[in-house]
Amino acid sequence: MIDTHCHLTFPEFDGRVVQVMADAALAGVHAAITIATTTADAIRATELAALHPRLFATAGIHPLYSDRPLDWEELRRAGQHPKCLAWGELGLDNHYDTPPSAMQREVLDTQLAHIARWTSEGLAKPIVVHCRKAFADLLPLLAASGLPRDRFVFHCFTGDSNDARAVLNFGAYISFTGVLTFPGAPEVRSAAKLVPADRMMVETDSPFLAPQPVRGVWPNEPKHVVHVAAALAVARGEDPIALNEQLDENAARFFGDAIRRPRMVDP
Ligand SMILES: [Zn+2]
Repeated sequence: MIDTHCHLTFPEFDGRVVQVMADAALAGVHAAITIATTTADAIRATELAALHPRLFATAGIHPLYSDRPLDWEELRRAGQHPKCLAWGELGLDNHYDTPPSAMQREVLDTQLAHIARWTSEGLAKPIVVHCRKAFADLLPLLAASGLPRDRFVFHCFTGDSNDARAVLNFGAYISFTGVLTFPGAPEVRSAAKLVPADRMMVETDSPFLAPQPVRGVWPNEPKHVVHVAAALAVARGEDPIALNEQLDENAARFFGDAIRRPRMVDP
């Protein structure tokens, strides 16, 4: 299993990443992707990933960090790192009003334009999307970017069935967090039933969103992604072992073969 979205550069994990990755491995979680939120964080994410064989990174500006210093050239450099598997997370967040939506929008537009250019220059990568209460605003902007639609994943899906249909009709992947396990989120479980088997992924969004039955634990950790996958199997009425294999396959198709479980070789 793979935790496709966590934030191991956050201070909660200072000096603990070796232990966190070991605990994840013991729980059957063989890889994790630490997701960038700013230019400086993208550099830190690639440096951290370079130290840990089963940890990978991304490079992008999170909409709620649109007001932080940013350096597009440095972001491109982070994207060139061999352990950097994707752009993002990027998008729009209408749940919070700071930074203001105009600022989020400006950074998003510029970021998508840069990514389109870097893609045409040969630095093509999938894109991790942050979308909170912003499906109607965001989908047309992603479409207008001209980037391939099946290279976007909507992370931490918290919408309902209509939102899921909009994302799936667009052609993107959907990724679920601990929100899927929360008793107060039946609409997310309903949406999970709609997603085709080859379009879904799971993640923790650590340090946030610890799933049931460890809800409230701080910080959340990649090892807890097993609870998200288990809840997804229950919501869909599917065999958990087969579902786990499908989730690994989807993550490898989307992020690349580097995150596949290493093959054991007979001596
Ligand atoms: Zn995140």
